[in-house]
Amino acid sequence: MNLKDLPIQQRVEWLLNEAQVYCERFSHPDLSAARRRYVQEHPSPILVTACIDGRVNLAHAMQSPPGLMKFLRNIGPQLTMKRMDFASHVDSHISAAAALGQGSLIMVTYHFSGSHTHLGCAAYGCDTELARQDCFQVAEHIRQTYVSHAFPVYPLVCGFDTDIEALLIHGADGQSLNLSDPELNADSLGVWLNRLHPHLPENLAQDFLPLLQGNVNHAAELRATERGIALEHCEWAICVGNGFEFIRTPNVAMVIGPYSPDMGKPVSTAARVVARNMQKGRIPEDGALLLSCCLYNDGLVEKATAEFRSRLSADLAENIIAHTEPELTRRLTRLSAIFNVEKRSLELLHP
Ligand SMILES: [Zn+2]
Repeated sequence: MNLKDLPIQQRVEWLLNEAQVYCERFSHPDLSAARRRYVQEHPSPILVTACIDGRVNLAHAMQSPPGLMKFLRNIGPQLTMKRMDFASHVDSHISAAAALGQGSLIMVTYHFSGSHTHLGCAAYGCDTELARQDCFQVAEHIRQTYVSHAFPVYPLVCGFDTDIEALLIHGADGQSLNLSDPELNADSLGVWLNRLHPHLPENLAQDFLPLLQGNVNHAAELRATERGIALEHCEWAICVGNGFEFIRTPNVAMVIGPYSPDMGKPVSTAARVVARNMQKGRIPEDGALLLSCCLYNDGLVEKATAEFRSRLSADLAENIIAHTEPELTRRLTRLSAIFNVEKRSLELLHP
């Protein structure tokens, strides 16, 4: 039986087990040594702006080592440097990288369906061209903002075809590279990246290439297997806050980052998607999950503050869902958690 068809209690147990397995893998001596080696060889932090859509899971699709890529997730038009809260998160990421002597590569992403236009990004009315243009505007705004920064800050626009989980890397001159081509290898990817982005600093390019290769490999593997994931929405979890990097399975959760003072629009959008998934029979009608989470890092953010913020996020989200989809509220399993950044562990809070 497919995961999405299991009773809600079993799906929730599966998700919590995913968090446990992720944490164990993160702390496994062999794997953590490999991850440290990777970071030594490829130290540039990668920041990604992405939609809340559960079909978009770029760490999974780029076969990224755990915790390497940082995500700012919200619905499309909300992601703009003109919003103070979004800009401040970009700023703190760039400052943290600079403190380590690093520049920053920022993937500004949109998503689409290569087979069916109506399965594209609802935030843009499934208008892929509009989504792409918005991303170019955000990228240009980031570029202008940090043009005089001490370390290079390089925004780069990428599309993501949710049908085949392959990226489309856009260049500055209208050219693009589709990573669904299985013939691409380290050499040809390097040539392409240089052609599309001749001004991308060499060290950022070297740190980006393994992730591009990861997506080429992922898309090829997906093509070679019986695809068990529906092309249309099947999410049954609404996740608010951050610390959801342990969810590496696409089409499970709508993930709403804390990057907008107005949670109303993204949470009500997510609630409508999950409610519709039930109505259309794509997931069982027995329930859905609302999971809130906040990061904490001893010495940086007090654990108690993270707990408070996580519970508050769940309250806010639940109120919005009650307003938008009252029927869904009655079937909602609500959990609040905090996520230890150092251990990569999810800790559930008592109700
Ligand atoms: Zn979207």
